[in-house]
Amino acid sequence: MKIAILSRNRKLYSTRRLIEACEQRGHEPMVLDALRTYMEIASSKPEAHFKGQTLPNFDAIIPRIGASVTFYGTAVLRQFEVMGSFPLNESVAISRSRDKLRSLQLLARKGVGLPNTGFANSPDDIQDLIKMVGGAPLVIKLLEGTQGIGVVLAETKKAAESVIEAFMGLKANIMVQEYIKEASGADIRCLVIGGKVVAAMKRQAQAGEFRSNLHRGGSASLIKITPAERATAVKAARIMGLNVAGVDLLRSERGPLVMEVNSSPGLEGIESATGKDVAGMIIEFIEKTAKPHKTKTKGKG
Ligand code: ADP
Ligand code: MG
Repeated sequence: MKIAILSRNRKLYSTRRLIEACEQRGHEPMVLDALRTYMEIASSKPEAHFKGQTLPNFDAIIPRIGASVTFYGTAVLRQFEVMGSFPLNESVAISRSRDKLRSLQLLARKGVGLPNTGFANSPDDIQDLIKMVGGAPLVIKLLEGTQGIGVVLAETKKAAESVIEAFMGLKANIMVQEYIKEASGADIRCLVIGGKVVAAMKRQAQAGEFRSNLHRGGSASLIKITPAERATAVKAARIMGLNVAGVDLLRSERGPLVMEVNSSPGLEGIESATGKDVAGMIIEFIEKTAKPHKTKTKGKG
């Protein structure tokens, strides 16, 4: 198959592993920097070009679109969808997952367990907002943050008030969330491919830190997940419309809570913690599933 990997850097671990897995399984991978891919939007013959060259019709596209290039990257992916390529994850699903609030609203609608979360516009409503999520300590998050940047733990009501006020003053979009203390700085990353959890790891924050992101110094280890956790992760990926997802769960007193669903989960941490060939499983999924024009939205949304 002709497979394009939308990635800005072929040296990144995940990109390298996907190239390797394609080659091992007899496919022709091409790495495209989405920012150097441009397109002709025409109803008769839509085209995509890359650095002056007309691109072929790919059988499948593997999007690895960085958070900072979501807008342009999803436009490029949508163009390939219009041209009939099979997207590993659809552009619409990626856009949804990049907005933490939108994701939580979609999950809440289907009864998935979530940390109580509030969202408000006016500083006048801060007091009630804090009360709504159960008071301090609480977590304040930028809607489009990633890698733990933009996630703050406010230990007291006073601290919460001033941080929320400061963010609102900067016109930053934030949500306020119940702090799940009993998770003790750990979360569970479940890697879902085609409706199955194929690998899971526990990430533990370093001492004195509540954020377990590996980019923030967290450490990964193998974990056995419960049937409820497995079911929650699979359901969350399905609701988001993602074939491949990194679903992050917090273990709480009231069961597994979904914290976020990542559409471009990194492969390095999960492959080294579990020893599994996740890249190979992704390519295998594409082999089994890819068909021309097989999207739920046909590049519409
Ligand atoms: P990012 O997209 O930046 O990774 P997350 O929402 O995943 O943002 O939060 C980063 C980390 O902070 C999580 O991995 C988790 O360890 C911790 N965290 C986030 N929200 C909560 C919460 N409500 N309760 C406890 N810990 C949290
Ligand atoms: Mg996260």
